[in-house]
Amino acid sequence: MKTRISSATIGVLASLALLLSVATPANAYAYLGPKWNTQVYVAIISGQPGSNGAGWTNGTNDWNSMTDANLYITPGGAAHVYTYSINSSGATWDGITYWTSTGSTFNSGTKAYLNTKYTGGYDVNKVRGVAAHEMGHALGLDHVSGCHLMNGFTTSRCGIYRPTADEINGINNKY
Ligand SMILES: [Zn+2]
Repeated sequence: MKTRISSATIGVLASLALLLSVATPANAYAYLGPKWNTQVYVAIISGQPGSNGAGWTNGTNDWNSMTDANLYITPGGAAHVYTYSINSSGATWDGITYWTSTGSTFNSGTKAYLNTKYTGGYDVNKVRGVAAHEMGHALGLDHVSGCHLMNGFTTSRCGIYRPTADEINGINNKY
């Protein structure tokens, strides 16, 4: 869902735990619109259950090491992207990201969540994949279909838990 309010854009995208609809045509990558123009400070809120904290760490480090995006996991204080775990028992999503932007630039304060209702039953790599997917949104990638990290359906990612070549190209073309 993306809603435009005056010059600012508020967005939210969920990674759905279950296949609920027919996928859109295959694309190599797609953009939400905005990007970061600075190094991206990522805060990983401490005390997250299971492998969620490690998932955020590895997912963040994957984008940093595999692409031209410049991310930094900050030990505390202000960040551009905050990562959390919550238990949303009524939700169909296993991960979700909320952002705002002004023009073509993300505003600080993106919030990304793992839903322990689902991730509590996932193996380490599946959790890592959901976290990396949400971090892909936080960097500006939209959903695609096919065997890609940014497929909106966790069950349709063919086990992929790191950015694919297409998604790396998408970020590198933007950053
Ligand atoms: Zn998503």
